[in-house]
Amino acid sequence: MKTSNLCAVLVLFLLVLSCADTEDQEVNIVLIIIDTLNADHLGCFGYYRDTSPVIDSLAASGILFTNCQAQAPWTLPGMASIFTGLAERSHGCSHYNGLSHGLDPEMPTLTTILKEQGYSTAALVNVGYLGEPFGITKGNDYFWINEDGSDNADITVDTLLDYFSSNEIPEPFFATIHLFDPHLPYDPPSPFDTLFKHSGTNGVTEWPEIELCFDPVIIEHMTAMYDSEIRWTDSQLSRLFAGMREMGLADNTLFILIADHGEEFMQHGDWGHAHNLYQQALHIPLILTGPGIEPGTVTPQNVGQYDLLPTVLEYLGIPVPGHVEGINILGEIPLDRVIPSSGVMADTSSAACLQGSMKVLWFVEPDSSETFNLADDPGEMNMLTTDSLLLNEVLSYWAWPCICIPTTNEEAQIEMKRLEGLGYIR
Ligand SMILES: [Zn+2]
Repeated sequence: MKTSNLCAVLVLFLLVLSCADTEDQEVNIVLIIIDTLNADHLGCFGYYRDTSPVIDSLAASGILFTNCQAQAPWTLPGMASIFTGLAERSHGCSHYNGLSHGLDPEMPTLTTILKEQGYSTAALVNVGYLGEPFGITKGNDYFWINEDGSDNADITVDTLLDYFSSNEIPEPFFATIHLFDPHLPYDPPSPFDTLFKHSGTNGVTEWPEIELCFDPVIIEHMTAMYDSEIRWTDSQLSRLFAGMREMGLADNTLFILIADHGEEFMQHGDWGHAHNLYQQALHIPLILTGPGIEPGTVTPQNVGQYDLLPTVLEYLGIPVPGHVEGINILGEIPLDRVIPSSGVMADTSSAACLQGSMKVLWFVEPDSSETFNLADDPGEMNMLTTDSLLLNEVLSYWAWPCICIPTTNEEAQIEMKRLEGLGYIR
């Protein structure tokens, strides 16, 4: 048996064990957010490379949602949807009118709600958008942030395990761990840097000038390096699960894995993310495993990032605030539900809705739309006649009034400028 497969089986074994003996205990929550993780690059989604043995075993030990849609194609609004249960137009935590807007200080988040319910709360994050000025990670008893964009999944995992081992952590706990490594630059540590390497492009970790981006050799190299970053991150999750098990903390814990958005490799003429609302930027993984979750469950219905908050709260028996737009996806998921996404980006502002396999994208400037049937055309290459009913859903969504009062405080603007300088806003 290959080491990776052995490792995956071990993780599965440990997590299946953790599903037992949980009566009358309040369940702990560990939320794992992997930045820039395109679902289609994972083994459990059928990818051809062995990028994710640990994530695959995590999916096998619980429920895998195969059609989870990000509510936005970049970090700030996607993270806000995860923590608020709201779509991008509703939470307003995004970038528009030349300003970055933080979350409404009065808006409850998954963290603040669980804290009110008696959970001890901790978050370890690796990007400035999850820092204090934007408010998404407010309410943590313990908060650790690294903003240099380096490949540090190992350090982040070590820090969380140190936190668990060096403190008397009251249970139940809610811990958020955000791993940034698959985000550009694609620069995984050795030996992962040569795992899927393509010849002839040694040392290239950033996309070159736009003309060269269409070079198939460049695209293949960047894809291989991105895949290596996923495999490196996956390896560190194995250490997280093993460490928690050793400390007796994997028992009675619900593990959640999700991403803030995906990543593009020139399929629609752009690289990275935050450019458009095609599926490469929106299709993300969502996995839940723990007490009461049936192992080996696969759910193909459409779900969204904004479903996470109501799902966790209902799972724990905590009332869901009335303003929340997502639904409990461990219950019945309506087949005809409409999942919205949107983005006010540097290139263009647009919104999209997914209903069943039909998807409509609408572009603000110039006013135009595209309709695709993802069942026949997952790459969104063959435009169909406009689905006018679904287009109306998109336009209605775009016109929704923001139910939050987003902050535009000075700290958020300074942080936005700093992140622009680092290349996180393009
Ligand atoms: Zn991100």
